[in-house]
Amino acid sequence: MPRDPQAFDDDEVDAQGTGDGSARRFQDFDCPACNANNPYDDGIGDGDEILCYYCGQEYRVKVTDEGRLKLREN
Ligand SMILES: [Zn+2]
Repeated sequence: MPRDPQAFDDDEVDAQGTGDGSARRFQDFDCPACNANNPYDDGIGDGDEILCYYCGQEYRVKVTDEGRLKLREN
């Protein structure tokens, strides 16, 4: 099944957040590359750039209108 090329690199991450829709912020994320859990005390929100402390992979954060966390590898 064809996928939206713009979304091709996005990994949807199962994470708990606070707030509604794309304004939701998350306190941690599971790295799609190495599966390590990375806590972020300052929170993770749409448009942020984050770093996995374990494998060093950088991600750009996308929060969908449904409040789902997606990460794109930088
Ligand atoms: Zn990682």
